[in-house]
Amino acid sequence: MSERQIVVIGTGYVGLTTGACLASLGHRVVCVDIDAAKIDQLRAGRIPMLEPGLADLVLEGQANERLEFTVDGDDAAATAEFLFLCLPTPMGADGGADLFATETAVARIRDLLPVGCVVVNKSTVPVGTAVRIAELLDRPDVAVVSNPEFLREGSAVTDFLRPDRIVVGADVPAAGERVAGLYSRLPSPILVTDTASAELVKYVANCFLAMKLSFVNAVAELCERFGADVDEVLDAVGRDPRIGHAYLRPGPGWGGSCLPKDSEAMLRMAETAGFPFPLLRATIDMNARQRMRVVAKLASALGGSLDGVRIGLLGLTFKAGTNDLRDSPALAVADLLADRGAELLGCDPTVAGGTKVGGITVVDDPYEVAEGAKALVLLTDWPQFRTLDWLRMAKFLDGTVVLDTRNQLDPEVLDGVGLVCHGIGRSLSP
Ligand code: NAD
Repeated sequence: MSERQIVVIGTGYVGLTTGACLASLGHRVVCVDIDAAKIDQLRAGRIPMLEPGLADLVLEGQANERLEFTVDGDDAAATAEFLFLCLPTPMGADGGADLFATETAVARIRDLLPVGCVVVNKSTVPVGTAVRIAELLDRPDVAVVSNPEFLREGSAVTDFLRPDRIVVGADVPAAGERVAGLYSRLPSPILVTDTASAELVKYVANCFLAMKLSFVNAVAELCERFGADVDEVLDAVGRDPRIGHAYLRPGPGWGGSCLPKDSEAMLRMAETAGFPFPLLRATIDMNARQRMRVVAKLASALGGSLDGVRIGLLGLTFKAGTNDLRDSPALAVADLLADRGAELLGCDPTVAGGTKVGGITVVDDPYEVAEGAKALVLLTDWPQFRTLDWLRMAKFLDGTVVLDTRNQLDPEVLDGVGLVCHGIGRSLSP
C-alpha cells in the first residue's frame, strides 16, 4: 500500500489513536490540536492518557518521521490527501450534539484543502452531518466520508488495529473506496454504506449498550425485591449466545465520555424526526434512577441521614483501565452524596492524591480512604480493589458498611472481618 498524506484534526483519545495507528500502517500523518500544551507534551513523546501501546506507537512514528504534531495545520492541510476530523461533540444545551468544534475546523480548512482531498469524519455526529460539512465546505472537488470510530478507552490501540468492523459511509463511492484503502492492511471487514447509515451505526451501537446496562440495572432492582441473586441470574441468562455476557453486569449506572451524550443526542435526533423513542427515554431515566438508588441504599444501610457522615470512595474513573473522569458515574454518585451533606474522601489508581475532584478530597492510599469513614463505596471496577487487605480496612473504618456497586468483592471475606458487604441486586452477606 502506498504512503498517504493524512492530517488529523483533534488529538484526543480518537485523534491521537487514529494518527499514531495510521502512521504505524505506513502513512505520513500530521496531528493538529488547538491545545498548545498538549501538542508540546506530544512532541516531547508524553501521552496525556492511559492507553496501552499508544506511547510506543507515537515514539515510533516520530522516530521514523511519519508522525508530527502541530498547533498550526494550515500548511499540512494544503497538501492533505485525507483530512480526518476527530473533534469533541459534547452535549449541547438542548441535549443534542454540539458541532461547534467541527464547524470551526471546517471553516478554517475550507479554502486550504487541495483538489481531490477527502474529509473523513470520525467524531460521533448526528445523521446529516456529513452532508452539512459538505455544504459548509462548498467544495465540489472535496468529498466528505463518514468513518465512525468504535474504539474503547483503555484498549484504544488494539481496538483501532483489530476492530470488529470498519464502517465507511460515502455518498460518492469512489471517495469511500479511497478511505477503505487506508485500512487495507487491517484484517477487519470493511462495511461500506451511505453517510446517513454510517452516522447512525455509531449511535445505535452506543444506545444499545446503554439500553443493555439499564436493563441489567433494572433486573438487579427486581432481584433485590424478589430475593434473587443478580449475578446468578445474569450468568445463566448470558450463556444464551443471543444475549452474551458482555455489558451484562450491574453497576452504579453507566457513564463515560460517550454513552450519556450519545444517548441524549440520539433521543433529540429521533424526536426531531417525529419519533419520541420511549425505549431510549426509559434507558436514560433508568440510569438516573440507578445512581439515586446507590445513594438510597447507602443511606438506608447507615440508618437514614448522610449529613456530616464521612464516606470513603474506591474508584473515580468511569471504568477501570482509563484515567478518564468525564461523566463518570462515580462522580455522579459522589455529587448526590455531597448534596446530602456527606464528607467525601476518595482514591483512584490514576488520580493523584492531594487534589480535589468535585467535592472529593483525593488521597493516594485506599486505606487512608477508610480512615474514620462510616462506610466505603466501591464505584469503579479496578481489579486491585478486590485484593485489598480487608482486615486492615476494617481497622481504619469507623463503621461496618461497604457498598460494592460493582459486585466485585467477596461478601464472605468481608463478613469474616466484621464488615457488611451490600452489593447491587443481591441480598446481604450472611
Ligand atoms: P477528546 O476530548 O479526547 O479530544 C478532542 C481533541 O480535539 C482535544 O484535544 C481538543 O483540544 C481538540 N480540539 C477541539 N477543538 C479543536 C479545533 N477546533 N481544532 C483542533 N483541535 C481541536 O475527544 P475524544 O474522546 O477523542 O472524542 C472525539 C470524538 O470521537 C467525539 O465525537 C466522541 O464522541 C467520539 N468517540 C470517542 C470515543 C472515546 O472512547 N473517547 C470513542 C469513539 C468515538
